[in-house]
Amino acid sequence: MKAQPRLRIAVQKSGRLNNDSIDLLIRCGLKIRATKNALFCHGENLPIDVLLVRDDDIPSLVVDGVCDLGIVGENVLLEQAIIYQQDNAQSNFAVIKKLGFSQCRLAIALPQAQLFDGPDSLTGLRIATTYPNLLREYLMRNQVKAKIVTISGSVEIAPRLDMADAICDLVATGRTLEEHNLKEVDQVVTSQAVLIKSLKTLTENVPSKKNDILELLLRRIGGVLKAQESKYIMFHAPKASLPMIKEFLPGSEMPTIMALDGIEDKVAVHVVSSEGVFWITLEKLKQAGASSILVLPIEKMLS
Ligand code: ATP
Ligand code: MG
Repeated sequence: MKAQPRLRIAVQKSGRLNNDSIDLLIRCGLKIRATKNALFCHGENLPIDVLLVRDDDIPSLVVDGVCDLGIVGENVLLEQAIIYQQDNAQSNFAVIKKLGFSQCRLAIALPQAQLFDGPDSLTGLRIATTYPNLLREYLMRNQVKAKIVTISGSVEIAPRLDMADAICDLVATGRTLEEHNLKEVDQVVTSQAVLIKSLKTLTENVPSKKNDILELLLRRIGGVLKAQESKYIMFHAPKASLPMIKEFLPGSEMPTIMALDGIEDKVAVHVVSSEGVFWITLEKLKQAGASSILVLPIEKMLS
């Protein structure tokens, strides 16, 4: 009897992408038994297996069709996609979903005391990076001549070691830069984790068992992301500010408005916001007179 087809997905073995990638697959209902040092995890309840590898290897595993899918940062993809274009190879992968986690940016940073007056200020400097292709493209785009110093890690200490005058590295919160007396001065690209698929094994518009499994996984990922972004928000607000509040609470049609016992000019508002709630939104709510603001996660949603 012919074996049933299974999807193989490449995920980072350990590092900043690993936890959220595995967590997403588990939330999609995949049961895997991850043993220590295992490179291959068999999906027990779905025809999906996980291959644990270094993130740099994920694009080529997918391009070569060794894996059908991969979860990788756009930064790695962009850095390597430039190589694929240079090789003139037919692009054999497609980005099929932005996953929202591992958000960061590839940024240029200089020692705190150094002046920056636009990309021209980088002329003649040595810039350390693990992303030489993206940095080269940035320099060309801005018509700046600088020396790219390619190193394999710990880029942020390069200026202190006098290996470089500036760096081009991934930044999420900016804390690491601060700790090393560096300041972010320009952005090269932004990045988040994305799901990619192999066009070798998952041919588009050709029905196949593998494509059916992918459809199922994509539906579940969609559900997980939607529930993650949605928040249940409760607060008290002056009746007069309600129109204004509705404007800056995105995706929150039809709030439930309830009277507050003994208070005439205020109401309690309960609302489901479908686009995530950031501190800045809460601060705006407060400025508009809202108080007792609570934001709760939503576990499951059926609309
Ligand atoms: P590997 O051993 O798999 O090659 P790595 O050291 O290259 O791992 P990590 O530091 O684990 O990579 O980062 C993996 C990805 O996580 C990055 O390529 C990027 O997409 C993302 N990322 C998110 N936040 C950050 C951050 N603050 N700094 C660096 N990368 C981040
Ligand atoms: Mg890596």
